[in-house]
Amino acid sequence: MSESARLTCLFCGQANRVPVAKLDAGPKCAKCGAKLAAGDVVAFDVTRHDKATRNDDLPLIVDYWAPWCGPCKMMAPEFAKAAIALRGKARFAKIDTQDYPAVSQRLQIRGIPLLILYAKGREVARLSGARPATDIEGFVRQHL
Ligand SMILES: [Zn+2]
Repeated sequence: MSESARLTCLFCGQANRVPVAKLDAGPKCAKCGAKLAAGDVVAFDVTRHDKATRNDDLPLIVDYWAPWCGPCKMMAPEFAKAAIALRGKARFAKIDTQDYPAVSQRLQIRGIPLLILYAKGREVARLSGARPATDIEGFVRQHL
């Protein structure tokens, strides 16, 4: 009996199934070959955003940001550090709300940066404002 997790490829949108025990072993997308949980922050579009946030079993943290937002840029390296710290346990992604304003509207986002944590296809929690890596990591661990 092996437990598996649904993971959307954040690069191509392919739905993958990965044995939970192999999450640490660098699983790759069956379609495009990209690493599914490499500890990086993947920039994605609204299509992949919607697939991943609605289908994935593994926790997914999305950074809602925009290029004009100073605090967003300040937080980016902190977000990347937290992504590495939580490799294999949660995935990190970001979406440019200037390119995809409909997403902000739908999610009723009033200020950025905003982090939303998703798990098992639904929203679990939000964390607003620019935060250091330790805060981001703590926020995610709270909900693992
Ligand atoms: Zn892929």
